[in-house]
Amino acid sequence: MFTRDLRLDDNPALCAAAADGPMHCLFVKDEAILDSPTTSQRRQAFLDQCLEDISRSLTERGAKLDLVYGDWFETVQRTIRDLKVDSVHIADDYSQYAQTRLQRLQDWCNDVGVSFHRHPGITVVPPGHLQPSGGGEYKVFTPYWRSWLKSSKRDIVTPPRSFNDSALSSPPAESNLYPELSSEIIGGETHGWLRLHDWLQNGITSYEKDRDTPSVEGTSLLSPYLRFGCISPLRLVELCTHLPDSEPFVRQVVWRDFYAQILAARPDCSRSDYRDRGDIWNYDQNSFQSWVDGLTGFPLVDAGMRQLRSQGLMHNRVRMVTASFLIKDLHQDWRLGANYFMSQLLDGDVASNYLNWQWVAGTGTDSNPHRILNPSTQAKRFDGHAAYIRQWIPELSSLDKADSLDPSPLLREKVGYPLPIVDHHESVELFKERRLTSVD
Ligand SMILES: Cc1cc2nc3c(=O)[nH]c(=O)nc-3n(C[C@H](O)[C@H](O)[C@H](O)COP(=O)(O)OP(=O)(O)OC[C@H]3O[C@@H](n4cnc5c(N)ncnc54)[C@H](O)[C@@H]3O)c2cc1C
Repeated sequence: MFTRDLRLDDNPALCAAAADGPMHCLFVKDEAILDSPTTSQRRQAFLDQCLEDISRSLTERGAKLDLVYGDWFETVQRTIRDLKVDSVHIADDYSQYAQTRLQRLQDWCNDVGVSFHRHPGITVVPPGHLQPSGGGEYKVFTPYWRSWLKSSKRDIVTPPRSFNDSALSSPPAESNLYPELSSEIIGGETHGWLRLHDWLQNGITSYEKDRDTPSVEGTSLLSPYLRFGCISPLRLVELCTHLPDSEPFVRQVVWRDFYAQILAARPDCSRSDYRDRGDIWNYDQNSFQSWVDGLTGFPLVDAGMRQLRSQGLMHNRVRMVTASFLIKDLHQDWRLGANYFMSQLLDGDVASNYLNWQWVAGTGTDSNPHRILNPSTQAKRFDGHAAYIRQWIPELSSLDKADSLDPSPLLREKVGYPLPIVDHHESVELFKERRLTSVD
């Protein structure tokens, strides 16, 4: 069964199913996920492209993807019964919803005598495989990273050239499909590989230098492909190990494993503080809406929020700045911001999204509860020429760099760009005071 491992390459669940006799491939478009308020239309469209791509690849190798929309558990149960399936192979996954769904299916399979197998593949190192000396999950990244580097990784698996499918016995079709890398992000393993190769050949060596500059294409843009498993994270890091200067990039990919192992241990973290700071949040709808609309009067924050709405993407540095602004300047509950991000992001991923939000909020794995990102200083440091700001805020696009980084009240009025909705210094002082009272 496919879930978010939509690839043929290095897919342990698929390879094990293929080795287990005639195989029936199923993907259920789970109505509970697709109809949830945090589902993004763009992510759904990307998912459809991934499914089209994998369906084509399976057909080429003599298998067929059965694609059904509905209640996930009932659909799987029905398929198992109708096709008299005797074993199920599936990728292990870690959010509360995924864990519950998997456990329910596993229990049912045990009851009816169907063998049930969970496989790795969503992360490089499966959650729980690495533990600090005291047990439990790693709470701090650097020791996790050190232990991750030393850990043995599973072997990469290769799919057979042709599958023995229980539902289809025609010979594999020839494919002449070899698209060009598009500047648009198109879902699926085929496009994921093109992007990956392009990145390894042309991008990765400048990663350390460019990764924090939102106006340049200095990052891989692989996150949506990792999110849906179009490329194997293990394959990605294996390919990187042969390249010089790839460590800063691999380190970043390992944050994904790090957050997955926290979510696996504490699945409630998409809703509750990992470390309770006793925060009292402000639920003012107007300021939240200004943040969503990119109308806070802080150019870097507004540029990021407009990029998010327009593309379903946002540069990592700007994600940190916009999230920090909502929490530390507007004193709004991190959950509201994280849910909004989830409803927009192409790469929206439960572990990476909610735990990064908690990192910024200081309720997560960052042990410093008072970290503040000043949106004006961050803009000068990481978008010094205001190229990103001017790209995303048309009102500021004709101003020179100094004016677009810090427009005067008169200029704001002239171009129709709002005044700052809060005083940054006053707001963060108030936030720190409240935290001091609740943390100490
Ligand atoms: C508030 C906030 C919310 C975020 N939400 C998500 C999310 O929903 N999904 C998501 O994939 N990433 C999320 N990130 C992490 C990061 O912003 C994105 O992974 C990155 O911007 C994707 O672009 P890229 O593929 O070009 O990254 P690159 O810089 O090329 O990094 C390569 C890969 O490493 C992983 N990675 C990089 N940084 C992080 C990180 N901080 N945490 C976890 N994994 C990381 C991603 O899989 C990424 O594709 C969030 C960060 C913040 C601060």
